[in-house]
Amino acid sequence: MSLEAENLAHILARIEAARKAAIRPAASTTLVAVSKTHGPERVQPLLDAGHRVFGENRVREAHAKWPALKDRFPGIVLHLIGPLQTNKLRDALALFDVIETLDRPRLAEALAQERDRGARLPDLFLQVNTGEEPQKAGVAPLEAPSLIVRARALSLPLKGLMCIPPADADPVPHFALLAKLARDHALPLLSMGMSGDFERAIRFGATHVRVGSAIFGPRLQLSEKKDGLADNERR
Ligand SMILES: *Cc1c(COP(=O)(O)O)cnc(C)c1O
Repeated sequence: MSLEAENLAHILARIEAARKAAIRPAASTTLVAVSKTHGPERVQPLLDAGHRVFGENRVREAHAKWPALKDRFPGIVLHLIGPLQTNKLRDALALFDVIETLDRPRLAEALAQERDRGARLPDLFLQVNTGEEPQKAGVAPLEAPSLIVRARALSLPLKGLMCIPPADADPVPHFALLAKLARDHALPLLSMGMSGDFERAIRFGATHVRVGSAIFGPRLQLSEKKDGLADNERR
């Protein structure tokens, strides 16, 4: 078995154990394997092992990697987990099955406009900046309710909430806050938890965990600056 497939099996077992131990367990928790910075040769062992749900944080990188894989492996579900600029919206809609980073009214309106022109919209998560970090994307917790109302008024397929807690903080209060916001607004899906904290997120009801380095190993130093968390910053 490849290293990636071994790690996958291990993470899936930990996810199920954490879910069963939760006080209010989610009906299911989906592993979004975060493949940013890794080439198709690293992704292939997971596809061979039957895994189908992946996350990418950059539209351009995803377009270079995934169309060929989607042709070869039916049933792939691709999540966008990085910030979405409106000038990349059409490219994103052409490839992604889920967009986790709706974070502003302007983007909600642009999505509705594309839908009205005939585009099929993917399921959407609202990204909430639970740590209110100025450099990070996401709607502030106090502004989240009005963006939820706006998205619903536009009949967008809003299904859940997503957060990335501050890197150096205890993530638990952030998971609790996101879970409460989702409950208060009857949103069924919760994307929270990464390699270092996904079990804690599952205890708070995560339906999706986004795990990269625990499956693929560390990302290359050179790309680290351009990737993921650094990339999930407001521009
Ligand atoms: C990179 C990234 C992850 C995965 O982080 P790991 O710590 O490698 O598991 C999860 N979510 C987002 C938004 C990311 O950019």
